[in-house]
Amino acid sequence: MKRERGEWPEPLDGHARRQVAPVICYPTDSLAPPDLAAYRAARDGWEKIDEVVVPPRDARCFEVPAGCFFRIVSIEGPQVGDLNLWAADDLGERFFSGKTRALHGTHLSTGDRLWSSLPYLRPMATITQDTLDWYGFDEWGGSVHDVIGTRCDPYTHRLLSGHDYHHCCHSNLTRALARRLNRPYEVVEPAVHDVLNVFMCTGFTRDTSQYFMKASPVRPGDFLEFFAEIDLLGALSACPGGDCSTEHSSDTAACHPLLVEIYRPPAPPTGWTSPAPNGYGREHEDRGTSRAGGMARSEPDPR
Ligand SMILES: [Zn+2]
Repeated sequence: MKRERGEWPEPLDGHARRQVAPVICYPTDSLAPPDLAAYRAARDGWEKIDEVVVPPRDARCFEVPAGCFFRIVSIEGPQVGDLNLWAADDLGERFFSGKTRALHGTHLSTGDRLWSSLPYLRPMATITQDTLDWYGFDEWGGSVHDVIGTRCDPYTHRLLSGHDYHHCCHSNLTRALARRLNRPYEVVEPAVHDVLNVFMCTGFTRDTSQYFMKASPVRPGDFLEFFAEIDLLGALSACPGGDCSTEHSSDTAACHPLLVEIYRPPAPPTGWTSPAPNGYGREHEDRGTSRAGGMARSEPDPR
């Protein structure tokens, strides 16, 4: 966290340096926007092919074929969910929350994509409906469906409290994936990754820029709907924080189940094709060996 007063003196032109206007790091104007009208039209006549109830303080896996939709639905009471996504045939390709944040901002909604990790970097899913899109940003700068948090986990809990708690989202996702793949916890745990915090209301405090949470505005019947761009394996944890109005990483908060519904449309959206992995050839070319004759380097190989 930044000190209230720095230790170093401000330079004479410090004010002018602060006055420089920001530029967007990753303008997305060059990306073809998702054809939401085509996605929505594809829903006509769709058929529910599966549903999974995620028990409170636990997680479940689910599969969604490319070209199908899935919804995360609030049932029974306000509850936030931590979502992990993998390519169904490759746990190495997983949701990349950091780059998704860099591309779409701190909180996601309709039309945003969930991008996969390097070197794949392709849309795994597209958000096609968000019943909480009315919320926008509140007076604290809070909003829903963030990609700024990570997931509650027993290591941070141990670090900060000295206690062990076994039903953090990280552990719930680990158990669910281990069950699904019939592999030991320690083998699947590294595949658990930073999440989309579904329904969670979060932001950064204005004064210290610390991550905060507040009671989720979600109510039973609300849902977040996705279109699967590739074959997906998903896992959803019903966070032990419940609506995350007070605390997580304990059995204190009131918790509720979440419902995942999977729908198959009669035909894929018009004009849609499943995206290929990113086209970069992975040359990572060294300038010294570049045929383009870039800057030759004489430094020894640091290896
Ligand atoms: Zn959690």
